[in-house]
Amino acid sequence: MAPTSPTIFSRIIAREIPADIVFENDRIVAFRDIAPQAPVHLLVVPRTEAYANVVELAAADSGLLAEIVEVANALAAEHCGGQFRLIFNTGEDAGQTVFHVHAHVLGGKLAEGSLG
Ligand code: C5P
Repeated sequence: MAPTSPTIFSRIIAREIPADIVFENDRIVAFRDIAPQAPVHLLVVPRTEAYANVVELAAADSGLLAEIVEVANALAAEHCGGQFRLIFNTGEDAGQTVFHVHAHVLGGKLAEGSLG
């Protein structure tokens, strides 16, 4: 179980907190980030909150991690022409604020001076 349960993402998935959901299936939900850092900024989140970060997820369920990447790719094809950054912030010092594993899918033209 995640350190804070239910996580804010579990509450979004349960429709207790509003979000602009763009995809869902039995294992994964994706929605627009509330504070977008790029023209397209989606979060791809497993329904389970059992894994706090991508390292835990990869160790326990690499198939689910692969599904997250597939969903990210399909959403990027739909929303931003198929090219995207996939970011898993891992740890507080790396900017992680929600300890329910999630992939940031960032697409569209990058801002001047941004990484990359
Ligand atoms: O990687 P990190 O844990 O910082 O990412 C959490 C993300 O969740 C942030 O980009 C934040 O804007 C987003 N968020 C959201 N909707 C909420 C709460 C957080 O999209 N209700």
